[in-house]
Amino acid sequence: MFEGLSERLSSILDGLTRRGALTEEDVNAALREVRRALLEADVALEVVRSFTDKVRSQAVGANVVKSVTPGQMVVKIVNDQLVEMLGSDAQTIDLNAVPPVPILMVGLQGSGKTTSTAKIAKRLTDKSGRRVLMASLDTRRPAAMEQLAILGKQVGVETLPIVAGQSAVQIARRAMDAARLGGFDVVMLDTAGRVTVDEALMTEAAEVKKATDAHEVLLVADALTGQDAVHTARAFDGRIGITGIVLTRMDGDARGGAALSMRAVTGRPIKLVGTGEKVDALEEFHPARVANRILG
Ligand code: GDP
Repeated sequence: MFEGLSERLSSILDGLTRRGALTEEDVNAALREVRRALLEADVALEVVRSFTDKVRSQAVGANVVKSVTPGQMVVKIVNDQLVEMLGSDAQTIDLNAVPPVPILMVGLQGSGKTTSTAKIAKRLTDKSGRRVLMASLDTRRPAAMEQLAILGKQVGVETLPIVAGQSAVQIARRAMDAARLGGFDVVMLDTAGRVTVDEALMTEAAEVKKATDAHEVLLVADALTGQDAVHTARAFDGRIGITGIVLTRMDGDARGGAALSMRAVTGRPIKLVGTGEKVDALEEFHPARVANRILG
């Protein structure tokens, strides 16, 4: 039977006779379970290490307050540390720049990039009352351009007319010009995705970032791909520099390990979470909820 980490920690530690402070031995026994639970939740090994070190340094010698059991005490320390590593404050998309504010969407093909572009555009339109223009820069896949246009109609957000034969940078520049002329507040640029991280993809996205002076560069990553999402995040951040992460498919059974790993490895905040295929299935990222999911 699968037991959540909270129960496992409690059953290990609650057998102890209540003492004033947690000893290193008690804490190490608990940390073996923490480590196992994090690895089961698909957290990267390096992140597991630094996490357990932090918990150890806080837990050893910590006084168990009268109202809780040693198990509950450790669960609380683990939970607080998870929330801190996931980024305690809710992060939103930063639009604090001269309009039209360019937002670049990057990520692998199939990660949910185009869907997330439309979801964010809809959210900025409906909730923040911004005028948003979307443009697809996927010059190699006409179907991807069509897909964005269809989504645009669905969510009531304008898309840049498609002109054949232009490069990604040319389309991005045209989008910025059109947005300036049309008085738009935000330009969402949906870059081309590839099946794997490749040099051409990175170079193109970096050129678009430079040409538009993109204010936000959001990496869209699929939570279900676990460790691969972490490698992707590291690669994109190293090569292009990202400002935040949109984690998709959190409606699936991903246990949240990818979220913890990506945040810890890149230091970039997870700004939004995709929770379904529908255009309004987009939520703010709540570290406490993801911590709960990992704790089980
Ligand atoms: P792209 O190739 O990265 O642009 O990916 P798409 O936006 O075309 O999305 C690929 C598939 O994933 C589509 O069928 C989307 O409906 C689906 N998708 C995107 N985001 C989510 C999500 O958060 N949850 C679920 N369940 N499906 C999603």
